[in-house]
Amino acid sequence: MPADAARLTIDLDAIAANYRLLRDAAGGAETAPVVKADGYGMGAGQAALRLWTQGARTFYVARLAEGEALRRALGERQAAILVFDGCPAGAGGRLKASGLIPVLNSGDQIAAWAGTGEPCALHVDTGMNRLGLTLAEAADLAAAPGGLRIELLLSHLACAGQPGHALNTRQLERFTTVRRLFPKARASLSSSGGIFLGADYHFDQVRPGVALYGGEPHDNQSARLSPVALLEAPILQIRDVPAGDSIGYGADFVADRPTTVAIVSAGFADGYLRASSPDGGVWLAGARRRLLGRVSMDLIAVDVTGADARPGDPVELIGPHLTLDEAARAASASAYEFLVRIGQRSRRRWVGEASAPVA
Ligand SMILES: *Cc1c(COP(=O)(O)O)cnc(C)c1O
Repeated sequence: MPADAARLTIDLDAIAANYRLLRDAAGGAETAPVVKADGYGMGAGQAALRLWTQGARTFYVARLAEGEALRRALGERQAAILVFDGCPAGAGGRLKASGLIPVLNSGDQIAAWAGTGEPCALHVDTGMNRLGLTLAEAADLAAAPGGLRIELLLSHLACAGQPGHALNTRQLERFTTVRRLFPKARASLSSSGGIFLGADYHFDQVRPGVALYGGEPHDNQSARLSPVALLEAPILQIRDVPAGDSIGYGADFVADRPTTVAIVSAGFADGYLRASSPDGGVWLAGARRRLLGRVSMDLIAVDVTGADARPGDPVELIGPHLTLDEAARAASASAYEFLVRIGQRSRRRWVGEASAPVA
C-alpha cells in the first residue's frame, strides 16, 4: 500500500452474501436494497450492480441526484429506483426523465405528481414523525385518490434495532390499518432491523440498508453478516516515548511506562471518528492494540510496545478483526455514521466479482 494513504477495500461478495441472508430471513418478501448516500459509503453503483446479479430489481435512494446517478450506473437494466425524498417542488421533470419513482411524502408532493400518469409510492407516517402522510391524510387520499398510481405503500420503523420496543407493535398495527385503505398497493414496512422482528413485519417488500454493508440490524445481537469494509492505513513512524511524556493534542494521554508508539496515517478526516480514543483499538501485527491520546485530523497513535511493527506496515482500523459495530461503539457512534464517513478521504477499491452469476 502507498506509504501515506488510508485504503478502504469493499468486498462485493460479502454484500451479495448479506443480501442472500436478508432475503432468506424475509421469507417470500421482495428484498429491495437501500443504496442511499453512495451505498452507505460503499459505492452505490458497484453495490447495485452486484446486487442485480443476485436478483435485486428494486433499489432505494434518498436524493434525486442519487437516483439519476444510479440509473446511469445500471444502464439498460430495467430496475425500479425509488427516491425517499419524493417529489420536492420542481423535481417532477427530472424524476420522469430518469424513470425514477418518487416516494410521495406530503400533500404538496402528491399535488405535484398527480396527473403525470406515472407510478409512485406513498409514505405514511406510523410513529416516526419524520416524513409521510398522517393516518388522517392517508384516509382522505384513499377516499379521493385522483389520478395517482400508488403502487406501493411504505412506512418506516423508528425502533427497528430494538426488538422489545413498544413502538414497533404500535407502528405495525397502524400500518396494517392504513394498508386496508389501499388494497391494490403493495406494502413495505421494514428496514434491516424490521426483517428480524418476525414475519408480521415483512409484508410484500423489505428495504435493508445497513445490514447489506455489514452493520448489525439489532443492538447486542449478531445476524451473522459478512464484513464488507476493510479500512487500513500504513504506519508512518515509530517512536519511543518515555514514561511521563504525553502523546498528541491536549496531552490527554500520559505514558505510565516507556512506550513504543506507531503513528498511523489515518484520522478523523479519513472518517475515523475523533471520539474513537481512548476506548478504541486497531489490529496490528497479529493483535489488538490500543489507541493513545486523541484521534487527530490525519493521524492516530497506537501502542506497539513489544510488537514487531515498522513504518509502512498496514494497520487494520475496521475489518475481520475489528468489526464495524465494535469500532462504532468505541467511537460512541452508530455503524451508519462510521460507514458513510470512512469513504471520505480513503481510496476505495472493490473486490469480488461485480458480474458474478446469481448464487
Ligand atoms: C435508510 C432507510 C432504510 C434502510 O434502513 P437500514 O436501517 O439502513 O436498513 C429503509 N427505509 C427508509 C425510509 C430509510 O430512510
